[in-house]
Amino acid sequence: MSILIVKGGIYVYFGSVRFFKHLILAAAAAMIIVPTILCVHYGLAYYSLRQELASERPGSVPGSAGDPKAPGGLLSNPVAHCGFNLVYAAGGENGNPRASDLLSYQSKYPNLYVDNDFQYTIPDEKTVYLTFDDGPSSLTPHVLDVLKEYDVKATFFIVYKDSETAKDLYRRMVDEGHTIAVHSTSHIYKEIYRSVDTYLADFAQTAQLLESATGVRPELFRFPGGSINAYNRSVYMPIIAEMSRRGYTYYDWNVGSGDTAHNKTARTICENVINGCAAHHESIVLMHDLASHDSTLAALPEIIHTLKESGYTFAALDKDVQPAAFGYPD
Ligand SMILES: [Zn+2]
Repeated sequence: MSILIVKGGIYVYFGSVRFFKHLILAAAAAMIIVPTILCVHYGLAYYSLRQELASERPGSVPGSAGDPKAPGGLLSNPVAHCGFNLVYAAGGENGNPRASDLLSYQSKYPNLYVDNDFQYTIPDEKTVYLTFDDGPSSLTPHVLDVLKEYDVKATFFIVYKDSETAKDLYRRMVDEGHTIAVHSTSHIYKEIYRSVDTYLADFAQTAQLLESATGVRPELFRFPGGSINAYNRSVYMPIIAEMSRRGYTYYDWNVGSGDTAHNKTARTICENVINGCAAHHESIVLMHDLASHDSTLAALPEIIHTLKESGYTFAALDKDVQPAAFGYPD
């Protein structure tokens, strides 16, 4: 304070060696004190946000009570292995998740579960799984006739139709040894893939129809547009996780018949399938049984005849067949 009291001394002080010593000391002190204050401040803010996040979404914070890798996490749940962090703390009675810990869609559709009891088996013979999407339609009875004539079992990924004719076809498929599986109710990508909720609602309607019509609960499904497409990139992971948690298995395909191409003919479909199957021990072939697909129907006998002659076996999909699934994009 003496610098302010002694008249003129202030001018002597500024610029003196003592002044610069004090300046350096003050700067050094500021360099220590300011970061320390900031560290404490942001440390407290981080801790508080972390606590908030852990209570909002247990499992989303590594090392928190809900972390599947932390004690108390549900490592036995398959979803925990998918890395989606959708499995929550075993905080409820008997180690079950509390209702408040579940994402809302996990508690919906209590009947929409199937046993996760499969074991993948690789057949000895080269095997072809013909799959028909988007039916039933007026073409379907004819497809079934051809399959019956050649004693071939196939898989139908159904788009919802609840007419008596359609229900008869579902029953005929089951009676004749084919697999019925869920494709979609609306088949409108923009609606189905808005969220996990909208996907489940669409799936549930067709699954329930098929079960009530045939008495058989479908266990397999195929995503409209395939498991990863331009409409579901932001939501396919949680959908796949949720469907896996419920025990369902989805099948993409590894052989395209090209039967939706605008210039397709029975010949091109036939060649696509036969050439495609040559590349795989197990071929999952994508075809459609829509009313407009006469060329698919026309191609079927030659496809079956040629492949059988070449030693292939035909079978319907079941959960023991290892799925063809599109790889996740980078
Ligand atoms: Zn489709």
